[in-house]
Amino acid sequence: MTSAPHSPARTSERPLRIIALANQKGGVGKTTTAINLGTALAAIGERVLVLDLDPQGNASTGLGIDRRQRRVSTYHVMTGEAPLADAVVATSVPRLLVAPSTMDLLGLELELASAPDRSHRLRGILADIGGDGTSTEGVSYVLIDCPPSLNLLTINALAAADAVLVPLQCEFFALEGLSQLLRTVEQVRSALNPRLSIQGIVLTMFDPRNNLSAQVVADVRGFMGEKVYETMIPRNVRVSEAPSHGKPVLLYDLKCAGAQAYLRLASEVIQREGRVPAAA
Ligand code: ADP
Ligand code: MG
Repeated sequence: MTSAPHSPARTSERPLRIIALANQKGGVGKTTTAINLGTALAAIGERVLVLDLDPQGNASTGLGIDRRQRRVSTYHVMTGEAPLADAVVATSVPRLLVAPSTMDLLGLELELASAPDRSHRLRGILADIGGDGTSTEGVSYVLIDCPPSLNLLTINALAAADAVLVPLQCEFFALEGLSQLLRTVEQVRSALNPRLSIQGIVLTMFDPRNNLSAQVVADVRGFMGEKVYETMIPRNVRVSEAPSHGKPVLLYDLKCAGAQAYLRLASEVIQREGRVPAAA
C-alpha cells in the first residue's frame, strides 16, 4: 500500500522473511524466543530486526535498550509519526537490530479505531524495509514480538507476516490455547493476508523430569505433526537470568542448554525455508 514515494530501493540479495511470534497466552516464551532466535539467526549470518510490538517492551529491555534509546518507538512508527528506520537501534549483537516499544502502544488500539488501514498498517510500514542507505539495509529477517493477546497489535503482526512461529509452553492447557490461535490465523489468512503460513511451533520450557511435559509433547506432536520443530527449548535458569543483564542467553552463557537449543532452532527455521546458510 503506502510505499513512501522516495523510499530507497532494496538491493540485498537475501530475501526478506517476516515472522510473527504469536500466542495469546502470556509467559510462554514469545519474547525469549524473539531475542534468542534473533541472536542465533544473526550469529549464523542473517541480518535480523526484532520489532517489539508489546507495550511491555520486554524484548527491548532484554536486548539492553534503555529508555533514552526509545525516544522513537514502534508506537511512533505505527501512528505514522516516524518512519521505521528512525526507530531502529543497534544491539550488542552484530547484525541484530531492534525497533523498541514503550507503554504508549497501549493506547494505539483506541487511536487507530477509525483508521481504515488499522489492521494492515504494519504491513504498509514493512513494505518499505531494507532500503539501501537506511538503518534497515540488508535486513533478511524481521521477528515481530507480539503482545499476549489477539488484539489489534497481533492482528497487525499477522497481517504483515509471511509466517507465524508459535512458542508453546509444555503445560496442560497448551493445546486449548493453540486451537484458538489457529482459528485467528485462519481468519487473518482469509480476510487480510492469504500468504500467511505457519513456520512452526516450538515447545518451550520443556522439563524432561516432568511426566506432564512429555505427555504435552506427545499430544502437540500428534495434533500438529511436522509443524512442530524437533528442537525443544528446555527450562533453563540461564535463559531466565539473561534478560536482567540486558543480554541474549547466547551472549550470557553460550554453552548452556538453552543457548544451544536456540542455535538448533535457528538452523531448523532457515532449513524450513530452503535457505542456504549465509556466510557469517
Ligand atoms: P512471553 O513473551 O510469551 O510472555 P517470556 O519470553 O517473557 O514469555 O517468558 C516468560 C518468563 O519465562 C520470563 O521470565 C522468561 O525469562 C522465562 N523463560 C522463558 N523461557 C525460558 C526457559 N527456556 N527456561 C527458563 N525460563 C524461561
Ligand atoms: Mg512477551
